Amino acid sequence: MQYLPLFCLSRQCCYLYITRHQGREKPSPLTGSDRPAVAITFDDGPDPVHTPRVLDILHRHNAPATFFLVGENLPENRQLVKEISAGGHEIDNHTYSHRDLSVLDSRQISRETENMQRELQKILPGYEIKYFRPPYGRYTPHTEAAAGVDMAL
Ligand SMILES: [Zn+2]
Repeated sequence: MQYLPLFCLSRQCCYLYITRHQGREKPSPLTGSDRPAVAITFDDGPDPVHTPRVLDILHRHNAPATFFLVGENLPENRQLVKEISAGGHEIDNHTYSHRDLSVLDSRQISRETENMQRELQKILPGYEIKYFRPPYGRYTPHTEAAAGVDMAL
């Protein structure tokens, strides 16, 4: 997988993932496709300034994206979370407080992902998160198991 940071608006970065499958690679976790595909993802939201701009651009281009949201940002941005989901975009887990998971123990990592999911359930009951993305791209061999959710870098 080739990874290209596309642009950053404040802390709300957009990453463009390009997959090039050569027969024996697994389908992309974000696109679910075994064909070459692009997944557009945004981290660190929702943000009251940047997320509406991003949603508007995605809507104009009929482009679905994945938003890796930070749990502590959710309570004050409930309407934005609903708009992300209503726009047909996927919401996934970027932890509760955007801590570096590589320095946390298993219980702390689990708490980070569980607390984010708990906040999301308050806004979108029944919403099932598929993936988490560790802040700063930092993780250890035990991070994914401790998080209890598949990791998407
Ligand atoms: Zn982040």
